Amino acid sequence: GQCIKICPVGALTEKNSVTELNRLLKNSQKHIVVQIAPAIKHTIGEEFFITPGVDVTSKMVGALKKLGFDKVFSTDFSADVTIMEEGTELIERLMKGDRELPMFTSCCPGWVNYVEKSYPNFIKNLSSCKSPQQMFGALAKSYYSNTLNIPKEDIYVVSIMPCTAKKGESERIEMQENGIRDVDLVITTREFAKLIKMNNIDFNSLPDDLTYDSFMGLGSSAGRIFGSSGGVMEAALRTVSHILTDGQLKQIEFKTLRGFENVKSAEIILGERKIKVAVINGIGSAKKVLDAIEKNKIYFDFIEVMACYGGCISGGGAPIPDSLEVRKSRMKGMYLFDSNSTLRKSHENIEVINLYKNYLKEPCGHKSHHILHTTYSNKTKI
Ligand code: SF4
Repeated sequence: GQCIKICPVGALTEKNSVTELNRLLKNSQKHIVVQIAPAIKHTIGEEFFITPGVDVTSKMVGALKKLGFDKVFSTDFSADVTIMEEGTELIERLMKGDRELPMFTSCCPGWVNYVEKSYPNFIKNLSSCKSPQQMFGALAKSYYSNTLNIPKEDIYVVSIMPCTAKKGESERIEMQENGIRDVDLVITTREFAKLIKMNNIDFNSLPDDLTYDSFMGLGSSAGRIFGSSGGVMEAALRTVSHILTDGQLKQIEFKTLRGFENVKSAEIILGERKIKVAVINGIGSAKKVLDAIEKNKIYFDFIEVMACYGGCISGGGAPIPDSLEVRKSRMKGMYLFDSNSTLRKSHENIEVINLYKNYLKEPCGHKSHHILHTTYSNKTKI
């Protein structure tokens, strides 16, 4: 899809991850944990003739347990952590003033790579937050390792992600410490389906009542909608508005920010301040907005950018075919999950609350900065 074209790293990092993982699951002494990105839950079913958009969490968990993973966790959890960190970072930047703004989301490596290669002047505007995939890995090798007393050298983190750009992201030098990577191996949605099929697991007959393991498995539906364009922004607004209005702003849904339009924007009153936000679909549209910002033609405080049209539900690793109709169904399934959820805000997730209480202490604090934040660099060709 669109993703592969804008992520040249994709082709280079594609290797036979499925065979490698299959071998590891059968022979390794390591403690193998897996995280599953939000989009996968509403797309993997298509590989097994299930209607696009239907949430197949239980069957997926069942398959992963059968495959031999020690713990099955969810990237929705670390998406909630991302909101705590990124929301706090936004508030800090708003207080410091316009020089720090706009702030851009940093959870799509296709977008981050583009800024580093083509618009280095905007590197300072990228949120310093690692993506949810990387936050999960970093927490598995610190918080989880410490709490369960498993040496981090013995933990192997696998991610199931919507695109090959996530493989490149996991290999970045900034995403490892003393040779220990946050995330050890990334497979795409289609590769995950291949792994299930080569092990002769009958996906459709797996149970319908399984859930993720606890500790880093609970996600709010704000964390889930990260997989659709506009979802990160909406999730952030739910938490930032709670903090800035002392819980007074009751709005949960920000529907004008949803959907496939190239650029969506809104003005939101948060306590004393009105903030201008934008959500961008695709790198082509992002380029136009960046040029307009550089010429002072427009102004925004906070901007979400996803390289794929419609967000990660349209990722290059998703099942094929993925027509616009299919993508719309996936997105619909994701928002249906959100409207049916009783946990719709990242800051209300009890596993996230416990993480801060027992380990990180506070968002954007000393420990968070070390574990969950990162840096970028100018990669323009000379
Ligand atoms: Fe990957 Fe999602 Fe970015 Fe597409 S939008 S490149 S799937 S992270």
